[in-house]
Formats: sequence, C-alpha cells, structure tokens
Amino acid sequence: MQTKLLRPSEDATALETAGALLRAGEVVGIPTETVYGLAANALDPDAVARIFAAKGRPQDNPLIVHIAALDDVDGIAAEFPPQAQALAQAFWPGPLTIILPKQDRIPMVTSGGLNTVGIRFPSHPMAQAIIRAAGVPLAAPSANTSGRPSTTTAQHVMEDLDGKIAAVVDGGPCTVGVESTVVSLCGARPRLLRPGGISLEQLQSVLGIVEVDRALREKIDDTEKVSAPGMKYRHYAPNAPVTVVVGPAQASADYIYAQLGENSGVLCFDECAQQFSGKAVVETFGPAEDKEEQAREVFDALRRFDDTDCTEIFAQCPSASGIGLAVANRIKKAAGFHVVDLTEGEA
Ligand code: AMP
Ligand code: MG
Repeated sequence: MQTKLLRPSEDATALETAGALLRAGEVVGIPTETVYGLAANALDPDAVARIFAAKGRPQDNPLIVHIAALDDVDGIAAEFPPQAQALAQAFWPGPLTIILPKQDRIPMVTSGGLNTVGIRFPSHPMAQAIIRAAGVPLAAPSANTSGRPSTTTAQHVMEDLDGKIAAVVDGGPCTVGVESTVVSLCGARPRLLRPGGISLEQLQSVLGIVEVDRALREKIDDTEKVSAPGMKYRHYAPNAPVTVVVGPAQASADYIYAQLGENSGVLCFDECAQQFSGKAVVETFGPAEDKEEQAREVFDALRRFDDTDCTEIFAQCPSASGIGLAVANRIKKAAGFHVVDLTEGEA
C-alpha cells in the first residue's frame, strides 16, 4: 500500500481527503496535541482491526475513542456521571482520557474486550477537523509500531508505518509530546491508569482523592489481569536496553559517568551533555528544570538512539511533580522498570 503524506499547510483538501479515507474504513495517522494517533472509524470493527494489524498491537490493549464535541459522549458512554462532566469541563478539549462504561454500539475490538471505553476530546484543531470530516468517532492509539517510542512528528509515523496505512496528515511537531492522562471513573474511586498531559495534581484539584494504579510504579507481569491493559506490555523502548537513574541532575550524571562502557548511550538533561561529550552517544531532552520541554523531546530522543550503534543506554529522569510523572513513567517503561534510585533511603 502506498502511504499518502497529506499536508494541510500546502493542500486545502488534505483534511477532507483524510476524512473520506476514514469514512471508507481506512487507517490514517493524524496529529494531536499529545502524540500522533493512528485513527480509524471507532464504530467499524473491520476498520479498527486494521489499526491493530498495522501496529502489531495485542488485541487486549484497548483503543481511545476521539470525539470533536462534548455531545458526542452521549453516543459512546452508557453514562456520563457528574465527576466525568467536571473533568470534561476543566480539561476538554485537551490531553485527558476518561474511562466510562461503554454503549453496545462501541465494538468489543475497539475496547479490547472490555465493557468500558476511553474517551478523549483532543484540542488540536486538525484532529478536531479530521474527526468532523470523518463524521464518526475515531479510535486512535499512538501511531507507532507496538513497543517502540510513540511518534511526535509525521516523519516518525512514516518511519514506523510507511506502506502499512492509507495516509498520514502532517500537522508539525506535537506540543505536549507525551500521551493523554488516562483516568478511570468505573470503580469506587477515580483511578489514574496512565500519567500524561494533565497532571495528577490537576486531577486532584477537580476530583479530590485519586488512586494511582500499581502499573505506574512497577512492571506488570504479562499474564496478569490489570485495569490498564496497555501498561503490561513492553513500551517506548529503543533497541538497546535502558537503565534509568533517578536522583538530582548532577548526582545522576556522576553515577552514569562512572558506569560508562565502550558503546554506552546517555539520555540526559541539556546541562549534563558536556560531561559525557566524547565518552558516550549523547541525546539530550531539555533542561533539568523544564519538564514540559522534556515531555516534547523524550520520544524523539529515545528514537534517535536507534540510529546509533550504542549497546546500552543510561537515562536521567525528572522528579514526579507535574508532567514529570508522565515523563518519568515513559522513561521507566522504556527501561522495563530497570531503575537505579539514588534517592532511596533519603528522608
Ligand atoms: P495508546 O493509544 O497507545 O496511547 O494506548 C491507549 C491506552 O489507553 C492503553 O494503554 C490503555 O491501557 C488505555 N485505555 C484505553 N481504553 C481503556 C479502557 N477501556 N480501560 C482501561 N484502559 C484503557
Ligand atoms: Mg501507545
């Protein structure tokens, strides 16, 4: 299959073309504010099956359903409780996915066999325009090959999926850079299943107490049944194995420096790059204190290691406040939770 690269900046019909392909049951890579999405008609099981095939995604890993108007929730969720309405009011359109009980018209293949559905109203104007042009809600996981780092440019999407999907819409680089926050409202208490573009602190400001799923902290066994099915799989990983070093920037840089071997790579804060120059393959992902920039850069930096010949990667990691929780989660997952914590034992 020839994958079309559609450029709305040069071609006034690009978004309409994307909508027509989606209506016809095809799969299209689309820009969103978080990462690029791999979209198909969420109501069409055959179209959704093509997403799983293109990505090589396990069937039990559910997809998020994207909408372009608040009213669209009515056709997807079986109920829209007050807590969900409060979250929608505060954070939609934006990088938040809300898990609710699903209606029967959402096919089981879309929800990964669950009776619940993740819904997101993205803020990216092109994403909204494509959903409207398609005229249906769009199921869209991240537009990467399963297991690889997510994609934040149309070029990344082409790297992974050229020849496997009908088209990619080029909307430039994503402004958030990590995926949406996933919160479930299907249990007794709101539960954070995946940290993302909306911070835990922001969720707490609307919901009060929010439980944090175990899958955020530790590796989940492949055979376990978990509330965040996507979290148990290897994710975001470059080819070389990753070790994350948690702690203050200079302390973690010094620790990593002492570990460097012949073909080491280092994912580090901008300020620490100099220390590793000439000693390792160095990829930076923003200043130590700028977690927003780290979120925008982390996947691109992880991907760049695959163009090098390094055989092991050491990664610095931000602290867990704000969007740092999401950045740290992605790096730890890239490392399969292989973490050295220099702060352990500190009060
Ligand atoms: P991705 O689209 O690649 O960012 O993955 C979507 C993530 O959303 C998956 O990892 C799932 O764990 C999560 N998700 C989507 N729908 C549901 C659901 N119904 N219940 C729990 N988690 C969900
Ligand atoms: Mg993904």
